Amino acid sequence: MENFNYHRPATVAAAVAALKKSKDGKFLAGGHTLIPTMKQGLAAPKDVVDLTAIKGFSGIKVSKTAVTIKAGTTHQEVATSKEIKKAIPALAEMAGKIGGVHVRHRGTIGGSIANNDPAADYPSACMGLGATIETNKRKIEADKFFTGMFETALKKDEVITAVHFPIPKKASHQKFPNPASRYAMVGVFLSQNAKGQVRVGVTGAAPCVFRAKDIEAALAKEFSAKAAAGTKVAAKGLLSDMHASADYRAHLISVLAGRAVAAA
Ligand SMILES: Cc1cc2nc3c(=O)[nH]c(=O)nc-3n(C[C@H](O)[C@H](O)[C@H](O)COP(=O)(O)OP(=O)(O)OC[C@H]3O[C@@H](n4cnc5c(N)ncnc54)[C@H](O)[C@@H]3O)c2cc1C
Repeated sequence: MENFNYHRPATVAAAVAALKKSKDGKFLAGGHTLIPTMKQGLAAPKDVVDLTAIKGFSGIKVSKTAVTIKAGTTHQEVATSKEIKKAIPALAEMAGKIGGVHVRHRGTIGGSIANNDPAADYPSACMGLGATIETNKRKIEADKFFTGMFETALKKDEVITAVHFPIPKKASHQKFPNPASRYAMVGVFLSQNAKGQVRVGVTGAAPCVFRAKDIEAALAKEFSAKAAAGTKVAAKGLLSDMHASADYRAHLISVLAGRAVAAA
């Protein structure tokens, strides 16, 4: 690991100012992605701006219409939140399936979304529920936030402060995990709102999280497990690696979407 300057600001404004001053700085949250990449020499920031001492940077608020999770909230806090289990049980269940227990106690929602790993779970929940990502500068719809593999709409000095999830009528998260890391080989987060609109967020299958629009269209006509599982997803553009071929992943998307409808 290369040497770096360590900053531990107490406010969002001070964190942003520290990053702005740096030629090549990085925010640090749970460190479960950033620290390993620094150890492997894949990242060598000159300044590391630790967000964990910022007051009020973590916490959960549930209203009649939305669940708001502040950026520094750990996966374990989401998985065990009584309010979230009541409002969007699928979201708490999803957080409980992330990695192992040590990962869930360190990893944060802000870090997961900012990192946008192609196999991470939160991006599919954001897409599947139609979340809004709040930063120190603006609010960004999930559909416009995730822009590519490990790429997001975030600017260099922009810090995620909270994520707002509208409460759906029904939702379910289904994941086919890699047995070693628990990252999604394919993960599907499906929801239906009070107006009957369906959203299907898919992770693990492509370079970037996406919505399975063909399955959404089939479910808009008939909200049934058969309609979801019977929709063939094109393998073109999906990931093919030592874990699974693109065809296999395409098949898994329909299977998991069918299971999600049945569970919802
Ligand atoms: C063994 C292992 C298994 C895992 N399994 C899973 C899994 O099954 N599913 C899953 O979804 N994830 C999994 N993860 C990832 C983990 O859950 C974390 O979510 C992820 O590492 C990033 O969160 P973090 O808080 O650790 O972020 P960090 O590592 O601290 O930061 C990651 C990136 O986000 C940036 N960042 C952090 N916070 C903010 C913010 N508020 N605003 C702007 N930028 C920010 C950092 O600068 C950095 O670039 C696994 C990780 C490990 C090590």
